[in-house]
Amino acid sequence: NTNAYDTMMIPTIPTPDELLDKGFRRAKKAADKVRTSKVPRRMKGKKIEETRVIAACQIIKDSLKMILNRVPSIEQLPEFYQDYIDITVGVDEMKKSLGALNWAFGILTQLEKDFGSKIRRSDSEKATMYQRQAYGRIASVVNKIKKDLNFLDFAKAKLRNMPTIDFEAVTIVIAGFPNVGKSTLLRQITNAEPEVANYPFTTKGIQIGHLEINWKKIQFIDTPGLLDRPIMDMNDIELNAMVALEHLADTILFIFDGSETCGFPLENQLNLYNEIKKVFNLDTIVLFNKMDIVKTKEIDENYVNQYINQFNEVILISAQDGNGIEKILNKIESIEKTQKEEKFEKY
Ligand code: GDP
Repeated sequence: NTNAYDTMMIPTIPTPDELLDKGFRRAKKAADKVRTSKVPRRMKGKKIEETRVIAACQIIKDSLKMILNRVPSIEQLPEFYQDYIDITVGVDEMKKSLGALNWAFGILTQLEKDFGSKIRRSDSEKATMYQRQAYGRIASVVNKIKKDLNFLDFAKAKLRNMPTIDFEAVTIVIAGFPNVGKSTLLRQITNAEPEVANYPFTTKGIQIGHLEINWKKIQFIDTPGLLDRPIMDMNDIELNAMVALEHLADTILFIFDGSETCGFPLENQLNLYNEIKKVFNLDTIVLFNKMDIVKTKEIDENYVNQYINQFNEVILISAQDGNGIEKILNKIESIEKTQKEEKFEKY
């Protein structure tokens, strides 16, 4: 089970000042140890300066290495997360920042080597001068990656609470206008409370619910604010955010509100359905929800049937009462079977 939180954790990112403070403070401690050690007196001054320079470089390098090791390499992530990072903070910017940290690491290695040997080959007075020079250079290198550290700190905050996707599960993405009953259905179908995760361009994030049928893991994803409005209104990045979902989804579950109590006429709902069909080249299950009110309230059934009859296959449900849920699960199972067979035939 790939846990997004584990794979995507960016460690705490220090500021240049914090990096330098820590490096110089610890270097001083290391040098203090030399001061009280048994190094011959005439060597001591040089040894102290050498220790300061080498320790400062090492400690700052360790901090950089820790960041570089803990941030996952983007190419190795599942495509969905690559898209997610790109939409949320930008993959290029992310790579550039990590590249800058790598660059600083390399320069510090060089400084450590150069100034270390300069100090060893000099006399005590010169050693102090070289140490000061080295500290100036170290500070300058670390300050040069200020905006990269800033960016990584920003990315850490932005990439917090990414959706935890189970890449082994069959994934069903729920679509339909607001208030058609998407979250009611999600709650009705899945056992536990859905997980709420951040998703770009959704105000409420996305909800992920899990279910097992015959040992098969199924995850449902509801995306309030994304697959619930006309696609023509979307800008490029929003479209990307939507297309990222295509990498995840095996099937789309499109929900109509037959009662129109959501406030959107069936005609508009049909338009949204057609738009989503165009964007997602995926199997789609069509549901007509709130059939309990269509039956009991004074809604012209013929009017609703006009829309229902446009589809070869429709499942009529009441997400509220739980009617029709069984049929949805059967349908998911049969689609999953066919998709598996098709995959098998490809190889
Ligand atoms: P979403 O915005 O698509 O997630 O819609 P919600 O699940 O929040 O539902 C919107 C409203 O419709 C809520 O007040 C629900 O109680 C109601 N609702 C959802 N499903 C049904 C249903 O099958 N029958 C009836 N009568 N009301 C429903």
